[in-house]
Parts: sequence; structure tokens; C-alpha cells
Amino acid sequence: MNRRVFLSVVAVLAAALPALAADEAAQKPDAKKADGKKPRILYVTESKGFVHGAVRRQGQQLAPSEIAMKQLAQQTGEFTIDMTQDTASDFTKENLQNYDVVMFYTTLDLPIAKEDRDYFFNEWLKQPGHGFIGIHSATDTFHDYEPYWDMVGGTFISHPWSWQSKVNITIHDPDHPTMKPFGGKEVEWIDEIYQYTHLPNGELDPNNHWQPEKVHVLMSLDMAKTELKKPYHVPVAWVKNYGEGRVYYNNLGHNNETWTKKPFLDSILAGIKWVTGEVEGDATPNPEVSAKEEEKAKAAAGG
Ligand SMILES: [Zn+2]
Repeated sequence: MNRRVFLSVVAVLAAALPALAADEAAQKPDAKKADGKKPRILYVTESKGFVHGAVRRQGQQLAPSEIAMKQLAQQTGEFTIDMTQDTASDFTKENLQNYDVVMFYTTLDLPIAKEDRDYFFNEWLKQPGHGFIGIHSATDTFHDYEPYWDMVGGTFISHPWSWQSKVNITIHDPDHPTMKPFGGKEVEWIDEIYQYTHLPNGELDPNNHWQPEKVHVLMSLDMAKTELKKPYHVPVAWVKNYGEGRVYYNNLGHNNETWTKKPFLDSILAGIKWVTGEVEGDATPNPEVSAKEEEKAKAAAGG
């Protein structure tokens, strides 16, 4: 490097540095929750049905999504996280006192004691600063247990869009903190997409537990653009209030690849901040959005 170039590089750096430092100070206030402590997450990846690759541990090694979450915690410094695949031992009233957020990537009926379940749904999750984050098969969990499906917002029936499907997703609320990372009103993604289906007569299958009047839908399949079309609304992500606690669910995350994507990881990070009340975002139920998507899907699928 010749001297003149070197000097101009130094000048540019000197000019850039104060701005950078100020920016960083603005973006990273130290306080995390209202009480200034970092949110503490319990990430549950126990599977009593299908075991996804993203939650499959190899010997002593953490599963891919567990490693991704641990790295996210380390790189951002925004939260701490513990992992469990043993809810019988770790999902207890006593142990829940150590956490602010419970995150599920699970399948079917977990062996949580009834008194601990009751405590979780009736007390713990209803407290301000407490939240539940459901990822992918969190909706393929506790199909017949009403407190759970009523909380999570829907029950998986099938996934016509397989893991290799490239789907188009409409983002209804791009300003919601959990959606901002996707950068606009639509996003293309390759992942497995769940449906909460309709019966042949057009009525909702009573086993799907989808309750548009109780959730604020954030993402839906864009049936007009997605190759495989179905004549009904397919929600992909939503939020809801639960007492004074909060719930964020996102269907993405079947593919290990998804756990390497910044928008997805940033959305989980934003979800942690939103469910704990560190940042605000609308959770008003928007059944009108579901109704509109239903009409759009019918038109796209040809009636
Ligand atoms: Zn899956």
C-alpha cells in the first residue's frame, strides 16, 4: 500500500469510527427485560412422534437447531439458553422459576406431570415477561390436550408442501418485530409447510384447532404464487396474547438449512424480545386477514 492510499484509508476510518460507536450505543442498550436482566430460555426438543433432523442429537453432541440457538445467544449476548429433551425432569414448576421463555420444537404427547402442566398454563405463562415460542412441530404436539392447542393456536394435520418445496409467503404485518427480519411484504422460502385443513364440505376439520379469532396472523402461504395450490388459507406464523404473557409461533424450521438463515434466526431473537415485553408489536386478533386469505386461496386454486 502506498503512503497516499494508506493516509486516505486512515482518514476514512477516523471519520467512520465515531459514527459507528454512536450507532452501536443506540442499538444495544444494555438492559434486556424491564428489570434489566437477559431473558432466560428453556429450549425443549423432546420428540414423542417424528424426530426432526434439526432436533436430533448425535451422542453427546447438541442437535443442529440447539447449536444454532446457542450460537445466537453467544453472538448477540441478548439471552441465555438451556436445552432439554427430558420434560419429565425439567418441565416442572420448580425448574420453570429459572426461565422467562419456553421454546418448543417437539412432537406429540410429552411426559409432563399434570400439576406442572396446570401450573404452566394457569399461572406461569399468564405472567407479564413470560412467553412461549413454538417452532415448526410445536403444532404437532399435544393434539388432544385443549390447554395446549388453545395456547399454541392450531394443530398440524399434514404437510402437502414437503421440505423441498419452494413456497411464497405473504407477510401481513411487516412492521411486527418478529417479521421485520424478513425484509418486506413477501418472502420466498424452501421448507416444509403445515396445513390446518378443511373437510370436503368446506368446514374446518374440528381436529385442526385453528382459531383465527384468537390469533394475529403474521405470515400465510401466498397461494397465487406458490406452485401447489389448495383452496383454503394456510397460516405460517402468528402471535397472540396469553393472559399477560405472550406466544409466538412460526412453522418454518423443518430444514436444517433454515437454522442457518439470518432472517429466521433474527425473527426468533425478535420473538424472544417480543414475548418478554422488551419490544412492542401488535397481537390484536385479525380474523379478517384469515378470511381474506381464504378467499384468495379459493380463487387461486380455481374454486
Ligand atoms: Zn417437519
